[in-house]
Amino acid sequence: MKDFLIKLGITPQNSGVSTGLNFWDGHGVALTSYSPVDQTEIAKTQLATAADFEKVVETAQIAYQTWKTMPAPQRGEIVRQMGDAFRANKDALGKLVSYEMGKSLQEGLGEVQEIIDICDFAVGLSRQLYGLTMHSERRNHRMYEQWHPLGVVGVISAFNFPVAVWSWNAMLAWVCGNVCIWKPSEKTPMTAIACQKIIGGVLKNNNLPEGLSGIIVGDREIGEAMAKDPRIALVSATGSTRMGKLVAQNVAARLGKSLMELGGNNAIIVTEHADLKLAIPAIVFGAVGTAGQRCTTTRRLIVHASKVESLTESLVKAFAQIRIGDPLDSNNHMGPLIDADAVSQYQKSIAQAITEGGEVLYGGQPIPELGTCYVQPTLVKMKRQSAVVCHETFAPILYIMSYETLDEAIALQNAVPQGLSSSIFTLNMQESEHFLSVAGSDCGIANVNIGTSGAEIGGAFGGEKETGGGRESGSDAWKAYMRRQTNTINYGKTLPLAQGIKFDF
Ligand code: NAD
Repeated sequence: MKDFLIKLGITPQNSGVSTGLNFWDGHGVALTSYSPVDQTEIAKTQLATAADFEKVVETAQIAYQTWKTMPAPQRGEIVRQMGDAFRANKDALGKLVSYEMGKSLQEGLGEVQEIIDICDFAVGLSRQLYGLTMHSERRNHRMYEQWHPLGVVGVISAFNFPVAVWSWNAMLAWVCGNVCIWKPSEKTPMTAIACQKIIGGVLKNNNLPEGLSGIIVGDREIGEAMAKDPRIALVSATGSTRMGKLVAQNVAARLGKSLMELGGNNAIIVTEHADLKLAIPAIVFGAVGTAGQRCTTTRRLIVHASKVESLTESLVKAFAQIRIGDPLDSNNHMGPLIDADAVSQYQKSIAQAITEGGEVLYGGQPIPELGTCYVQPTLVKMKRQSAVVCHETFAPILYIMSYETLDEAIALQNAVPQGLSSSIFTLNMQESEHFLSVAGSDCGIANVNIGTSGAEIGGAFGGEKETGGGRESGSDAWKAYMRRQTNTINYGKTLPLAQGIKFDF
């Protein structure tokens, strides 16, 4: 086995079910994780059964009774130790992320750094779970609000950020006093098992209750069970819009809370006042980073007619210089797609784009000589924003369109079902302010002179419309993991009733 697998405690046979301290042998159907890099078998695990799910939920409920009463700064101290444990394992876990998911090693290490950063953020937050105080309209009364934990938080995550998205949820949920159950993507189970092993050491050293952190490697059936289970107070789901609609309906049917982080179809507007030296690297990184498999990947380019020719020429040259191959080799910029199905979606979308009047200016083909899952970064000129452009294809395909007026560009940018990330390249203040105003971008993220991908953990992350409306990570996103309680205290000797009501007794 590879060194980094041994360091992380991944063996040829792993259990995909744990309640924090111990993994136990599952009885479900075997699940083999293959690397998209070279189709090698990484290791095996099992899909959790309904009985496994039941055990994990019950253990989580018991752990919650202890954890919720621990003072928040002490919970923060545990998360601080988890951050240190991830620091100690950054190299090995970064390599596993790269090997199991296919993103470049730099991006794999970057993903682990995001875990470390959110741990630091959560430690500070554990002393800042502030509520407001209000002036009561009644004499000798005091009003304030406080925030309490929700209980068991379920985290459903996608393959493309196999560990960072879990940590954005779990670290915040923990300092807020919740316990977590994680259902990772069945396409990347080993990265999740490795994370659980890393934090298991911290839980053990601190004699924390089993069940603070549960993991169940399962398919959509376990995800559905999670969504339908009233014992899971909040379901935070990251993945496709198709999945999000199903999960949201199941959680809503029991009036539970949900937090949705779904698909994006992100555009960059390049105006006549843009500095192309800034725009070009942002566009190339946004389009080909993680082989186009980021929710914030740049998929649409809306370019002023005066700039479209020179920009297209530069992009074709830049795409030709992208080095594709083994993502663990730091000379390469772009690794494979996640699986053969993703390659076939890539091919179908390019064929559809051509049918809808598109012209492929660069790429458009798989690269079988590198392996089953490698494709060329692709640039397609579109005459209009047709159906294929409005759809999120999780692959490195960039559609380029031209515009005449900024209002036309903004209308195109907003005319898709998704609303995650957006950006404008311009040195003109009126243009950038218009883009950021209520008349501008309708997305959760709107940037000026930086691209659509690469969000920092300090800001609230998420998007509108079919992206689901949820916010994670920084700012006050923590409030989604807590319930607000309004308290009124009468320290006087009378009881003034509301609306001036008086009784005769
Ligand atoms: P996916 O929807 O296929 O799977 C995501 C997770 O949902 C997996 O764990 C899967 O097992 C589970 N799942 C699937 N159907 C389910 C159901 N009916 N009920 C409960 N759980 C179910 O997504 P994917 O292919 O792994 O990831 C790619 C998608 O994720 C893209 O659309 C991307 O934009 C999106 N994404 C969004 C964000 C964000 O923050 N907005 C971040 C990362 C990825």
